[in-house]
Amino acid sequence: MIKLHDKFFKPFIPAKQIDEVMQRLATEIANDVGDEIPIFIGILNGSFMVVSDFVKKYPKPCEVTFIKLASYEGVKSTEDIQRLIGLTQDLTGRTVVILEDIIDTGNTLAEVHRIFKNENVKSLKIATLFYKPEAYKKDFKLHYVGIEIPNKFIVGYGLDYDGLGRNLPEVYQIKQTQHMTNLVLFGPPGAGKGTQAEFLKEKYNLVHISTGDVFRFNIKNETALGMLAKSFIDKGELVPDQVTIDMLNAEVEKNAGANGFIFDGFPRTNAQAEALEKLMDSKDSQINAMIALEVDDEILVERLLGRGKTSGRADDANESIIRNRITEYYNKTAILKEYYSAQDKYFGVDGVGSIEDITERLSAVIDSL
Ligand code: AMP
Repeated sequence: MIKLHDKFFKPFIPAKQIDEVMQRLATEIANDVGDEIPIFIGILNGSFMVVSDFVKKYPKPCEVTFIKLASYEGVKSTEDIQRLIGLTQDLTGRTVVILEDIIDTGNTLAEVHRIFKNENVKSLKIATLFYKPEAYKKDFKLHYVGIEIPNKFIVGYGLDYDGLGRNLPEVYQIKQTQHMTNLVLFGPPGAGKGTQAEFLKEKYNLVHISTGDVFRFNIKNETALGMLAKSFIDKGELVPDQVTIDMLNAEVEKNAGANGFIFDGFPRTNAQAEALEKLMDSKDSQINAMIALEVDDEILVERLLGRGKTSGRADDANESIIRNRITEYYNKTAILKEYYSAQDKYFGVDGVGSIEDITERLSAVIDSL
């Protein structure tokens, strides 16, 4: 991650990918232009890197010139385009290719078309390295597009944020400023994760996602996901990773504006932890802590058998299924302690005592983050 002025930016498109795209554009345009000697026109300032790399890859004779327009103030594209340096040569009858670093609203492009209206060029083609389809508001045809990108501010490879960042050989994307607190509540079945999550979500205004609850909801409603999950859950086994990961992603997406999440029962495998990291990364966020409730096995079995008398959960009903769930935890899930310890994010909490005492122990960890 880098900081320019007051904002943070994260790596978005590596230099190697840009290079490959520039090569493709140069080849494509050379094929279309044929034997003509085209004149490539860069729009300063942003396009200087694009033009420089493009013409080095262009395999045939060509001419190069620039015009200078300005549209950006800070991170917003303004309507008002200033013409700072115009055309300085006669282009009558010429094949002209505009080389742009980025096309977003299309305001700069509108100004380019105004400039060329009376130039009597043979043809005017538009090529751009980056294109933001969600931001584009004009009808001008874009003849050559390198990479379509989402409507987020980017810097690097000629593009700047208030003057900085143009020299970076790769492209960075602005990091969203929204701060989330994301916790993984961890521990074997029966450790009290669900009970504690209910208190913590109120106290810290977080969204609680229990993968077990979501599965049970689906089983009750006899959805396809429920039917699939049931066969695993009833035996005390884990539901396959991809099914669980897809479901978790969908649950997070449903709560796009959340302050943060308490993940309860997820992740349970390394693959799930990696998927969660990716998901958090896509939200410019991260898991802040894994907080584990530590409870002895025999107490767990006793608690779950007790709960089974009233919960109606098939997987709480008999001791051998309960023990299988605990075994699954040690075989597949407990390794995640290492995963989060390696990132200094693992916090163990004694899970035996009154509900209030345990909530306090957990809160102490959260408050220290
Ligand atoms: P829980 O309510 O967390 O004890 O989960 C009940 C059951 O749902 C587990 O024994 C698994 O069969 C299934 N399950 C819940 N979360 C996951 C997960 N992250 N990965 C795989 N299976 C899960």
